Amino acid sequence: IGRVNTPNAELVVDVAAIRHNVRRLKEWVGPGVQMMTVVKGDGYGHGMVPAARAARAAGAEWLGVATLEEALTVRAAGDTGRLLCWLAVPGQDFAPLVAADVDVTAYTVAELDEIRAAARSVGERARVQLKVDTGLSRGGSTAADWPDLVAAARRAELAGELVVTGIWSHLAASEDQAHPANDAQEKAFLDALDVAEAVGLRPEVRHLANSAGAVLRPSVRFDLVRCGIASYGLDPAPGVTPAGLDLVPAMTARARLAMVKHIDAGAGVSYGHLWVAEEPTTVGLVPVGYADGVPRHGSGALEVAVGGERHPVRGRICMDQFVIDLGADTTAQAGDEVLLFGTGARGEPTAGEWAAWCDTINYEIVTRIGGRFARVVI
Ligand code: PLP
Repeated sequence: IGRVNTPNAELVVDVAAIRHNVRRLKEWVGPGVQMMTVVKGDGYGHGMVPAARAARAAGAEWLGVATLEEALTVRAAGDTGRLLCWLAVPGQDFAPLVAADVDVTAYTVAELDEIRAAARSVGERARVQLKVDTGLSRGGSTAADWPDLVAAARRAELAGELVVTGIWSHLAASEDQAHPANDAQEKAFLDALDVAEAVGLRPEVRHLANSAGAVLRPSVRFDLVRCGIASYGLDPAPGVTPAGLDLVPAMTARARLAMVKHIDAGAGVSYGHLWVAEEPTTVGLVPVGYADGVPRHGSGALEVAVGGERHPVRGRICMDQFVIDLGADTTAQAGDEVLLFGTGARGEPTAGEWAAWCDTINYEIVTRIGGRFARVVI
């Protein structure tokens, strides 16, 4: 079976942009703060391995992933630097992670026990980071359980089973610095560090900040910041990133028009005839749809660019395709490039604009786009 010579659609990933963004973020937080580039979720849709390589080339001391499997995939690609994962379920085997020098996160004493057992089976000390819940009420030890967790970790450290390399937490509202959770979480984190210190833990890194925290709030940078979205050149929330940071979006989604045709006034377009042409016009068929991560919720709201001009999506987005209105006088032809989203430099919307039209966040746009798009790393 051969491959088609021209894919219907491509995700173009500019790894030079990722390198640039990681360097800019490192400069922004300053020399005393280590950089963890978060590459979970397939590198926020950009490709986990290309993103990891770009981050390392730009000087990221750490990479961060959610699952154990993601961590092993990064290792299998040849990465040997510091790497943290943080989301396991009971019964998962930490042994390959310990053997691969991955830092693993413990939320509970039960999880710590699983990591200790893995360390004994491998015959090496595990590198463990303890996560405390400072107010997100998601993963991590509650404040009430924290003294038991740090005490158990210290005992295991003294027994030579593991070394506690880090203590960390995650912010709930870092994109909104006026939100009271920011002060409360910072204080809770400092309290948790005191409790850990009292039992003798001296972790190498203490960390709390994601992209928005790292950019907006110097006091939460501690020893290390965990930057995901900003590393890909995207704003953690509209208007958060200062222009002076000079981030460059790394992903461009593009397709080629499968067909261009004239329709008459009164023609209903796509399923359910959500849109009916009031005047004669020319429509273009874009050969990607919700199976490729184009949100169906963007029906009637999204825009794309053809030849540097914006054009609206008309009617429902289908599984494999959607229709755009090129206007009666268009010179566009089948085969022409359609820019779905990207940097904006060629008139196309950004992932942030798509997010606003689809009532979601840019994170969801870039992580879900995929399907039959061919990924091209440049
Ligand atoms: N740290 C943790 C624990 C995360 O789950 C994430 C992603 O949600 C990040 C850091 C990176 O966040 P952001 O992409 O907002 O920088």
